Amino acid sequence: MPPSPRDETPDALVIGAGPAGLMAAEELARAGRSVVIADAMPSPARKFLMAGKSGLNLTKVEDPDRFRAAYGEGAGPVPALVEAFGPAEIASWAEGLDQPLFTGSTGRVFPVAMKASPLLRAWLARLDKAGVILRRRWRWTGWHEGTCFETPEGARTLHPHVTILALGGASWRRLGSDGAWVPWLREAGVTVHAFRPANAGLGIDWSPHMAPHHGTPVKGVALDAGGTRHRGEFVVSATGLEGGGIYAVSRAVRDGADLYLDLKPDWPVERVEERLATARGAIGNRLRKGLRLDPVATALLMEFGRPVPRGSGLAALVKRLPVRHAGLAPLDAAISSAGGVAWESVDPSLMLRARPGAFVAGEMLDWEAPTGGYLLTACLATGRHAGRAAAAYLEAQKAARKDPRSLEQSAFPEVDPQIITRRHAMHETLRAAIDKLDAGDWEAAHEASQADPGPEAAWLHAHLHRVEGDEANAAYWYRRAGRDPFPGTVEEERAALRDAVSA
Ligand SMILES: Cc1cc2nc3c(=O)[nH]c(=O)nc-3n(C[C@H](O)[C@H](O)[C@H](O)COP(=O)(O)OP(=O)(O)OC[C@H]3O[C@@H](n4cnc5c(N)ncnc54)[C@H](O)[C@@H]3O)c2cc1C
Repeated sequence: MPPSPRDETPDALVIGAGPAGLMAAEELARAGRSVVIADAMPSPARKFLMAGKSGLNLTKVEDPDRFRAAYGEGAGPVPALVEAFGPAEIASWAEGLDQPLFTGSTGRVFPVAMKASPLLRAWLARLDKAGVILRRRWRWTGWHEGTCFETPEGARTLHPHVTILALGGASWRRLGSDGAWVPWLREAGVTVHAFRPANAGLGIDWSPHMAPHHGTPVKGVALDAGGTRHRGEFVVSATGLEGGGIYAVSRAVRDGADLYLDLKPDWPVERVEERLATARGAIGNRLRKGLRLDPVATALLMEFGRPVPRGSGLAALVKRLPVRHAGLAPLDAAISSAGGVAWESVDPSLMLRARPGAFVAGEMLDWEAPTGGYLLTACLATGRHAGRAAAAYLEAQKAARKDPRSLEQSAFPEVDPQIITRRHAMHETLRAAIDKLDAGDWEAAHEASQADPGPEAAWLHAHLHRVEGDEANAAYWYRRAGRDPFPGTVEEERAALRDAVSA
């Protein structure tokens, strides 16, 4: 369906139909705003659907301090945002979409359906009912004279009042999040830290002895890296080690820590030594009979420990086996990515400081977390926050036009009052410009209209060219202002303009 003029100047444009973008759209629609979501892919939320292939681990029930701590250092406001919208809120949100959940023995929370498609279907239907328009195959190509897209119908430019960027990280590019936006944001003055793999497997050039174990899970071991210890399972693959246990240490390994396995984590080294000393036969036999190591754990010990020492050296190796690897798997193969839009580039409402009116949510922000439901929780929580903040920003702008004192009582304190105050000052400049135009000083009014990148200044600019009789230029500036040419007389338009910038 071709877009209508209303779609081209929505209150809110959400770019990226992953969980962060859909959540932001829902909040904006709930606030009564017209919302268009644009996504480059033929269908929305492909990574969310992929997450559903392993059951869709939505969140995790655990001690709130531990939950927040999973985001580690450098996660900006994410721990606070998941406190506001965390496991309990996500459970009631999913249940509100008629998706019953269950909590596994480790606290991980999944839909009973163990997939993402029923939840996504219900969510998209609810958004559709709320009037949200979803544009598929609309690829954002940057900010030029508006917010520009490549679409199946050709190039399109939108002029939304607020924008939410929810473009995802930079892994699994084939699902849509390709990080192509990084240079455009940098050009706009936004700091974007380079993307690096998070929750990634380890590359290992195995000897032929390991071939019989490819595809075998390794259970009941502990992993040590960078001074932290994790119990977790992983799998020996043809190219290395994969799975939750490895992902849990991949941040430390990426940052340079050595990785060790403890093959008997519940036994002290003395016990291992004693059992090895009393067991008989070749090393393989003693490991199997004395320690009850399974074949894959024994094979790992032989692979990484060769030449295998005897006596106490062997016991020490069982307890601290160094893993020789070729580094983390490439970014594209990682479950998620670290890096992205730097925290200093957004204000507490997640609005870009360099681009007032544009908010950021989801994995494209610079945070990381292990698997276990922390990723989707943070994407949903940041999407919700950005959506609410964008709705509050629209409200605050409207109220400030009527009464500048309203800024002191903002219902959403995270919206930076300074930005609204700057807008307010711009309106004063524009009012003075209209006065000059009334007094016949077209040049001075034109100069003022060029000093401000906002939509009201673009409207004044269009009006000035209309007065001058330059229709082509006026049409261009109406587009930049995100509005159709004014249908009334020049005098009526001047009055409407004055109204729009009046306190
Ligand atoms: C195999 C796999 C399994 C996972 N399992 C889990 C799990 O069980 N639990 C968990 O918590 N997390 C899981 N994750 C991670 C989780 O899916 C992501 O963290 C989450 O989807 C990120 O959400 P997002 O909305 O920020 O971005 P995304 O879901 O990546 O969505 C971004 C959207 O932006 C669109 N886009 C990008 N660039 C443009 C552009 N220029 N123009 C228009 N649109 C654009 C993309 O097409 C995409 O639809 C898994 C990830 C993978 C790869």
